[in-house]
Amino acid sequence: MAEILDGRALAARIREEVQREVEAFTARHGTSPALAAILVGDDPASALYVRNKARAATAVGIRSETFHLPARTSQQELLDLVDRLNAREDVHGILPQLPLPEHLDPESVFERLDPRKDVDGLSPYNAGRLSLGRPQLVPCTPLGVLELVRSTGVHLAGARAVVVGRSNLVGKPTALLLLAEHATVTLCHSRTRDLGAHTRQADVLVAAVGRPRLVTADMVKPGAVVVDVGITRQDDRIVGDVDFDAVREVAGWITPVPGGVGPMTVAMLLRNTLRAARLQVEGGDR
Ligand code: NAP
Repeated sequence: MAEILDGRALAARIREEVQREVEAFTARHGTSPALAAILVGDDPASALYVRNKARAATAVGIRSETFHLPARTSQQELLDLVDRLNAREDVHGILPQLPLPEHLDPESVFERLDPRKDVDGLSPYNAGRLSLGRPQLVPCTPLGVLELVRSTGVHLAGARAVVVGRSNLVGKPTALLLLAEHATVTLCHSRTRDLGAHTRQADVLVAAVGRPRLVTADMVKPGAVVVDVGITRQDDRIVGDVDFDAVREVAGWITPVPGGVGPMTVAMLLRNTLRAARLQVEGGDR
């Protein structure tokens, strides 16, 4: 029976650590780190995520502002807001909440962000640094996945890691982080043939797809670390990509949904905001 990787407990420890460092930063500089979230439109799930992130920020002493724009906002209006926030010295992190309404192009928003304020690590600069092995601000969910994997104590150097899903937000940066830990990494996606043949090799298996029960028990190597990033709403419940009850019988460690990766994403956002503030106020590169 797999050990459950409790993302809520690990995230709480990280939030405490961030809070102590935020207090020290604030004492040193007479100003606290500050996060500006941009929410466009009326998607209730996005609104909830932004509220949770703002609340978590305030709880550790990070100032938080939310800019709620109407769904009809034009690309230019959104870019103008990014420009204003880029220019504000009292804002250290900018978080455009995804997904944006269909008529808006997220790529050009991330291209416009000051890379030192890009707390979700999605600007070309930060994505490039990660792929060059010189990470600066790294996407929050992949960082959370890595922390969960590290918490098992499993030795990653030389381990086989399989990531299912290749998005810029989750799959690809997760694969790069595992590669940086010297795992042998396979990245699977919707065109992968015989997914199970790959996943069965995995000492570490990360599912980041958004398809309930895609990963079944026969696709998992006994004793593996299984991290479920997927979030799908089904009848008022949230379910992951992994058939939890069955896979739990096979895996060595497994994350629940909810209560696994989700809370870690928020904790990593707080850590990234502190890092962004340090980059801007204290200088340096990392
Ligand atoms: P995405 O952009 O839709 O990417 C999904 C990926 O899954 C794509 O690379 C796609 O392949 C691949 N895929 C689709 N069907 C597949 C199949 N049958 N077999 C193998 N791969 C398949 O989604 P995302 O933004 O990466 O998010 C992934 C999931 O994580 C979603 O459920 C999302 O809600 C969740 N999420 C959770 C958190 C959290 O904090 N817990 C944060 C972010 C996202 P192609 O590239 O070939 O299309």
